[in-house]
Amino acid sequence: MQQVLFILLFIPVVVSYHSTDELLDKIKEECDVVTELSCRMEGDILIIDWKKNQPKDVVWAFNEHARERITAELALEMIQSLKKVNPSMRITIIPVVNVWGRKQVDNGNRCLRKNKNGVDTNRNYPQKVRHHYAKFSEEYEGKHPFSEPETRLIRSILQGANQYINVHSGEFSLYMPWDSVDMRPPFYEKQKKKLKLLSRFCPQCTVGPAAIKSLYKAYGSSVDYATTQGIEAYTFEIYGSDTYDCKRMFNPPNRYKKRIIDQWKKIIFASLD
Ligand SMILES: [Zn+2]
Repeated sequence: MQQVLFILLFIPVVVSYHSTDELLDKIKEECDVVTELSCRMEGDILIIDWKKNQPKDVVWAFNEHARERITAELALEMIQSLKKVNPSMRITIIPVVNVWGRKQVDNGNRCLRKNKNGVDTNRNYPQKVRHHYAKFSEEYEGKHPFSEPETRLIRSILQGANQYINVHSGEFSLYMPWDSVDMRPPFYEKQKKKLKLLSRFCPQCTVGPAAIKSLYKAYGSSVDYATTQGIEAYTFEIYGSDTYDCKRMFNPPNRYKKRIIDQWKKIIFASLD
């Protein structure tokens, strides 16, 4: 008996992934007890505001692609850390953009990326360069820009914002725009300086303009759209593993989860300086 107790006491705490409902409930609980946090729903999407009475400033979006569940886990922990970190500016957070999709993944559809309408919402913004993706492709852009409720919501939240981070997984990267053209963004020098500072916390990260540094171009992304609106925008890719298994490719195993979350909590909070 004593031996069993000993083992139970010394097993390291391994925190597993939350179902989407559990995760959103935990965030709502936080809104109930922290006065500076407020929660509101827009359809099935939960939107959090930190210091809502301040002017619009920073926007963070997570889990736009259904299978990238780790990104919502990061959102939860960041929201729980806000009272301790106590940033002075308003921060608007969408912890799960693709709520329907993440629930599908919870239930075993582990490779799902697109939304309920079969659209990759991160291709559903106005395109800088015209490009059509096939309907069955993982990057189908939808019938027309802003045809999807998720993108219309993000468009309205971005209005008047100064900084935007869209958080994804599948690789380790700190990207600035553009996603679709091999060009430097309008705030290149400022963004380059910021990414250089942040990259100290991510030695394994690819750093720089996404289309130039990555091996692909993304047409109609929210970061390119935000950039055209004068917003300093970034895509952070927080984890990736070289495998064809969707669960493991986009999400760290339980034993690495805390390490990844702590690493990116530090990076994203440091981006506020
Ligand atoms: Zn993604």
